[in-house]
Amino acid sequence: MIMAPLNYKKDFYPEDLSKFIKDVTEPDEELVESCKECFDFLQNYCPIEDIKRSFLLLDTIYFLDYLAFGEEASCFDRYITAKGMFVASYDFRMDNYGVCVSQISQTNDVDAYLIRGEDIIVSSVSPEEAILSIAIHEVRHRLQHKKRVRMFNKATKTRNQDINRYLLHRKHIFNEDKKRIYKRTRSKVLRSNLNNGIEFDASFVDGYFLAELVKKKSFNIDMLKAFLFLDPIRVFG
Ligand SMILES: [Zn+2]
Repeated sequence: MIMAPLNYKKDFYPEDLSKFIKDVTEPDEELVESCKECFDFLQNYCPIEDIKRSFLLLDTIYFLDYLAFGEEASCFDRYITAKGMFVASYDFRMDNYGVCVSQISQTNDVDAYLIRGEDIIVSSVSPEEAILSIAIHEVRHRLQHKKRVRMFNKATKTRNQDINRYLLHRKHIFNEDKKRIYKRTRSKVLRSNLNNGIEFDASFVDGYFLAELVKKKSFNIDMLKAFLFLDPIRVFG
């Protein structure tokens, strides 16, 4: 479904994400038809803007999945629901991604944490920037499962001081998030899932990506790929 060739070096602005995704993907007719049906169905339950944004997230996930896996990219069904607990998810048992329209407004409330020396600067981000980081997070989960990428953990130390500072900060945020999610869902299963390392790794990668995106104000395909495969030993910079 991807139009070749991709230009890996060209910079794009996050606000043009929708156009970017349209340019790099070429869905087949069957897919377009089934998405249209799904779109019409969801309109009975959800605001149209939320549905559009959810499809943008799903399309972004699929594009990043293609970047990560190439020809082995996902050939499974796309999955989008009206109601659910998370904005997006990757289910390793089914090997598929899901997006949930009722949660998509969370993309309005995402913050980036920028490390400046000893200081941490909190910056709000656009929905498109949030969508890119959520998509990185979910595809990272599939890479953990399928390619056994080396993961960042709470004890990771790299040769890059910026990354080390970010890791330290992430550890704190992650523990706060864990408490918040438990408070919201009262799910012990969820809480213990958060202890198994895969969530820390994915949330470190998406958070660090978001900080760099806000700093750079643009992205290119090279950057997206570098973050998907971010490796604690071979960190760039
Ligand atoms: Zn996750």
